[in-house]
Amino acid sequence: MTSNIKVMVRFRPLNNSEINSNKNLCVHFVDNTTVLLKDNSTPFIFDHIFASHSTQSEVFDKAAKNVVEGTVFAYGTLSYFVGQTSSGKSFTMFGSNIEDYNYRGVIPRVLENVFTYMEYAPVSLEFSVKFSFIEIYLEKIRDLLDIEKTNLSVHENSEKGVYIKDATELYVSSVSEVMALIKKGLANRKSSPTRMNISSSRSHSVLLITVSQKDAEQGSTKVGRLSLVDLAGSEKVSKSEAQGLSLEEVKAINKSLSTLGLVIYHLTDDKSVHVPYRDSKLTRILQESLGGNARTTILITCSPSIDNACETSSSLRFGSRAKKIRNTAKVNKLLTKFELTKLLVSAKEEIRILQRELESLKAACGAERPSSPRSSERDFLELTGEGALSERLSNTLEDSVENYKAKTVELNKRVEELCCYKTSADEKVEGLCITVQKLLERDKPPKTILSASKKYIEKLKRKHLLEIKALEEEHSKALCKLNRENQDLRAKVEWQQDTIYSLESENSKLLEQLFHESCKDGALRHIEETFEKLVCEKERIELVASELRCQLEESRGELNSKVEFTKRLLMQRREVGKTIRKLTRVIEKLVEQNAQLKFYHFVAEKRLVQKVSRITNLEKRLVGLGQQRIREELEYKLLASRHSKVLESGHSSQGLADETREQKIAKIIRGAGRLVEESVPSSPSQFWSKKNFI
Ligand code: ADP
Ligand code: MG
Repeated sequence: MTSNIKVMVRFRPLNNSEINSNKNLCVHFVDNTTVLLKDNSTPFIFDHIFASHSTQSEVFDKAAKNVVEGTVFAYGTLSYFVGQTSSGKSFTMFGSNIEDYNYRGVIPRVLENVFTYMEYAPVSLEFSVKFSFIEIYLEKIRDLLDIEKTNLSVHENSEKGVYIKDATELYVSSVSEVMALIKKGLANRKSSPTRMNISSSRSHSVLLITVSQKDAEQGSTKVGRLSLVDLAGSEKVSKSEAQGLSLEEVKAINKSLSTLGLVIYHLTDDKSVHVPYRDSKLTRILQESLGGNARTTILITCSPSIDNACETSSSLRFGSRAKKIRNTAKVNKLLTKFELTKLLVSAKEEIRILQRELESLKAACGAERPSSPRSSERDFLELTGEGALSERLSNTLEDSVENYKAKTVELNKRVEELCCYKTSADEKVEGLCITVQKLLERDKPPKTILSASKKYIEKLKRKHLLEIKALEEEHSKALCKLNRENQDLRAKVEWQQDTIYSLESENSKLLEQLFHESCKDGALRHIEETFEKLVCEKERIELVASELRCQLEESRGELNSKVEFTKRLLMQRREVGKTIRKLTRVIEKLVEQNAQLKFYHFVAEKRLVQKVSRITNLEKRLVGLGQQRIREELEYKLLASRHSKVLESGHSSQGLADETREQKIAKIIRGAGRLVEESVPSSPSQFWSKKNFI
């Protein structure tokens, strides 16, 4: 299956520093396949262009879904990401966060699809998935899954094709397992903080996923290989401010990227005989995917900012060149003996058909000759003989050139078709050789059959070569003839060019005159229009002026009334001022009086306190006197009552001694004293409140 490499371009949104410095864009998006650089009108056409607002899932759907198909249907496949540093390669490949569903990049999505495909595949198919992760740093291949392996080498054999020897290959069975390995690998990547991107990648990283599917019923095995490459950014040394080791890194990166460009140049240049795959580790690893057995998608990431116009332009040019590479993707299948025999028969049949086609093509080419330019020449001479106008003359010339161009295109197409036939015939023969080789290795068939088929193939090859040679010669003759005719036609065109020039100059003079006339007319019309406009404007201004005058009158009246009001207010203010001054004086007098009164009050209070203390002393003395009088009265009453009792009892109480009698009297007096104390108040107020005292 021969097809061109798919090239898609993704523009990231402007970042903060671009917004701060200059918001202008360097590109103009025509549609989703065409983009224009603003300083260059040549359009760049790609398979798809993702504008800045595109989402991760859109990019996966358009750019990577077919990669999944390629992997599971066992075509060698590859996608890789080119662009300057900070243009969004890692963002597109891994995503800003590989665990965030919306922001996951292409790789997590591809893996999920591969494993989902396996889940729903028929039970007769057995799958195994192997994973490797390497990086190319300073032209050395480092194993990102085993950092001990720092300088791996690239090998090639018929079974594996180009491969990295001793690179760690781990069997994986789920997306999460692969993601864990990717995280581990990413942590081991070389990156250094340059001014352009803090975690800018300083190395190219290549992620390899090999899917083998074995058909248990048929016994055949297919091997698909998915390679995803995150290329380090190419950057100007001055722009990244790289120094010391960084400078070495930048040099290594730029060298491998320029080799990649060179490989692409040679692949798209028909005259090239040698493609310098071996000039860098990167191109050597990518050999199969560039111009070989692979379905390849190149995703170019760019900045849309005018600040990065130079880098964006070179990335786009790189992409358009790469778009011309043609790859031949074949199924990597190990066939059974029966399948190989069937293939041999069908190949033979195809060769027969091809031979017939070649014959008929040869016949057709011989019969068809490019038409003579005589008729157009005649038309041309007729036209000039009659003195035709320059327009008709140039039209006729253009027609002749167009005719010639169409014929050239047709012829080129035919040559291209023949080349295709030649390539496919070569491929068939090559395929047959491989098949026979495999048969020989596997089943050891009798040598006679093999040598017969070999001879037959050789014969066919020789025959094809001869036919193709003859065909090529014939076409080169036709091409020479056409070239000669083209030269004749050019000479005639040049000869007539002078007439066209003189006619053109006359025409331009006339046009100039016409232009001047029309300019004068136009100027007069313009002046009239301007005058009318000025009159209108004057009327409008007068209207506005009278309105303004009215407003001025109104404002004047308002102003007068406001002046009156202000005068009245000033008078009132003066009167109020007087009243305030009077009141202030009154208040000052009152304050003075208040101070005097306070002084009097203070003196009176002092006197009051002295009087109260005197009253208290007098009260105390009075109480003392009162208590003494009561005691005397009580004693007098007691003595009186005792005398009366003594008189009553008289002689009946002779037995009592005089001493005891006196003690009893003292006891009575003490009891009476206690009684008096209890009944006498302790303070003057208590004393005065005792009603019964007075
Ligand atoms: P590169 O790998 O090309 O050097 P990165 O992928 O690291 O660049 O991107 C640089 C910065 O730009 C990162 O912060 C990234 O998140 C941001 N970025 C890149 N592409 C986009 C995009 N399409 N949308 C939003 N941010 C993006
Ligand atoms: Mg990166």
